[in-house]
Amino acid sequence: MDKIYDMIIIGGGPGGLTCGIYAKRAEMDVVMLEKGFPGGQVMTCDEIDNYPTQKGILGMDLATKFYEHATALGLDVEYEEVVGLEKTDKIFKINTLNKCFYSKTVVISTGASPRKINIPGEAEFFGKGVSYCATCDGAFYKGKDVAVIGGGDTAVGDAIYLSKICNKVHLIHRRDELRATKSLQTKAFNNDKIEIHWSSVPKSIVGESFVDRLTIENLKTKEEEVIPINGVFVLVGTIPNTEFVGDFVQTNKGYIVVDKNMETNVPGVFGVGDCVDKSFRQIITAAADGALACFSAEKYV
Ligand code: NAP
Repeated sequence: MDKIYDMIIIGGGPGGLTCGIYAKRAEMDVVMLEKGFPGGQVMTCDEIDNYPTQKGILGMDLATKFYEHATALGLDVEYEEVVGLEKTDKIFKINTLNKCFYSKTVVISTGASPRKINIPGEAEFFGKGVSYCATCDGAFYKGKDVAVIGGGDTAVGDAIYLSKICNKVHLIHRRDELRATKSLQTKAFNNDKIEIHWSSVPKSIVGESFVDRLTIENLKTKEEEVIPINGVFVLVGTIPNTEFVGDFVQTNKGYIVVDKNMETNVPGVFGVGDCVDKSFRQIITAAADGALACFSAEKYV
């Protein structure tokens, strides 16, 4: 007979790892399935200033703390990519590329991935001047001019980060107001190296073997401008990593719909963190989701 876990956590970001911490403390029989490297999107963040008690910590360091805390309590992590979910009687069957796992509850905490802008040159120059991660690739652009697309916390925060490395950062935003939190806006407005192109959208990324210019269009004047740059950081939000879920649970534009206990429309299946349909995606809200999902799952079991 195959082993039946109390809980299987799919995805090892702050939400999943917090759920794992609570599950181990509740002495549940739990395993985490992670397709890549535990830590989640926080791994690609530079400085984090809004995780209580950890002011200014580097994303990678905070992710490591989450992971080390969970594994110190005995959380097992198996490196498996989940491809589908099934329910047989009261037991869930989790299919990975290599094998099947069985569990009484499932916690989906697979996070989200960068959204693309689908303009000419974006795919062609990926890895040759087009990047979705400033902390991963910023160092390649030391002393150079780069563009950042987007107006949210990631784009503005990463523009500030890049301004410490690069000669100049062009921030391209489609509206005349940033979405990012006010403190980031103030830092960007006071940064001489950041030039904001308001109400502008990227039209094409051009180069020879490597990116050397970006064309943008001002949506108000309809004028096009060619900006000489060596790198383009596309930071326009994320899409949830929930393809494998299919219609197993209810989703909204791919985001998993949960109730106030983090439970989906399928009893025993919970959603946590950035893959969930909610309004505020932060490390601390993902962690809180994880704690609550565990509490609910423990009661369910
Ligand atoms: P986001 O908040 O969804 O912002 C995406 C930005 O990209 C918006 O400014 C949006 O413009 C723009 N955009 C979207 N699609 C576009 C397109 N096709 N072309 C051009 N621009 C486009 O995404 P995010 O900044 O990655 O943040 C994701 C979540 O993580 C948010 O909840 C954020 O608060 C959180 N986060 C928090 C921190 C922090 O607290 N330190 C750091 C990073 C991220 P509009 O404004 O016009 O919609």
